[in-house]
Amino acid sequence: MTDLPYPSSAPTAFDHAIGEAYNEAESRRIIGMVAATVAQLADWPKEKAFSVPYPPLAQYVLDRIALIGVLRHPGGYHLTPYRDRLSCPRTLADLMALCWSSPIDAWPFLNLPDDEDLTGLLVELDPIRPSELCLRLSLEFTHPDAADRSLERLALLDARALYEEAGHPGGFPKLREWLIAHPVLSSQEIAFLKLERIGGFQVTDELIDILYLRVHERYFSSADEIAVCGHCGLVLVPINGGSGERWQCETTKCRGRRNVLIGDVRHVAENLHHAARPIREFVIAGPRLRASEGSNRQASSPLRDVEC
Ligand SMILES: [Zn+2]
Repeated sequence: MTDLPYPSSAPTAFDHAIGEAYNEAESRRIIGMVAATVAQLADWPKEKAFSVPYPPLAQYVLDRIALIGVLRHPGGYHLTPYRDRLSCPRTLADLMALCWSSPIDAWPFLNLPDDEDLTGLLVELDPIRPSELCLRLSLEFTHPDAADRSLERLALLDARALYEEAGHPGGFPKLREWLIAHPVLSSQEIAFLKLERIGGFQVTDELIDILYLRVHERYFSSADEIAVCGHCGLVLVPINGGSGERWQCETTKCRGRRNVLIGDVRHVAENLHHAARPIREFVIAGPRLRASEGSNRQASSPLRDVEC
């Protein structure tokens, strides 16, 4: 580990560029930044250009990792060659490749703390998406003062704050119920929603922006349709550019990962929105999967009777 000699006076621009001393805590912060960057890129709006310079968080974390590559070695902080087989990513593409190819506990340029469950990939494939680990680390990085809360509470922290500021904290469970029932909305349904109160809270643009994002074109088939998973109710991903014939569910714990069941099909012309990724993964998917499992069991019980 390398500690940088910090002056006791106020930090200069140079101090800010160098960043915190490199240690376990800083490694933990860096992996949180990488996770938040992955989550940000995964839902980058199609209408927003993505080019150099990178978004500030992505650029900052790349700079920090580059600095680690220079600084990290036993016994000092003067320049030394990279450690054997150390692959320190130098570009955003390098970093993303590392996210899907190497578990974070194997990243040789970090010293992650041992007392936390910090193992696994940040990006999973088939379909490519941020892993549950990535979403957890991203939420914990975004809400460092609430990192001990459950993932469901973390995913809804900003929405809950709006309810508390407006004096309706008791109405918040109604919003959770409402979200579980409405993972996908058209722009028309959103317009109607803004005329409503949920749990006493008048729905605002700010609340909608926290809860929902536009469905990216990666979810549309070549027929400009989306299909909703018959198990978890979330939007499926078309395979191989979207022939509309094969789909995958990207919800980590969904039975649709192995056994795709197509539910409702909706058209791009509806200007569709779906719940933000951490909300659909940590708030919506669980209750809907339990409910669909229960209804499947009920529906299949007559068959089981016949079999017996
Ligand atoms: Zn599903």
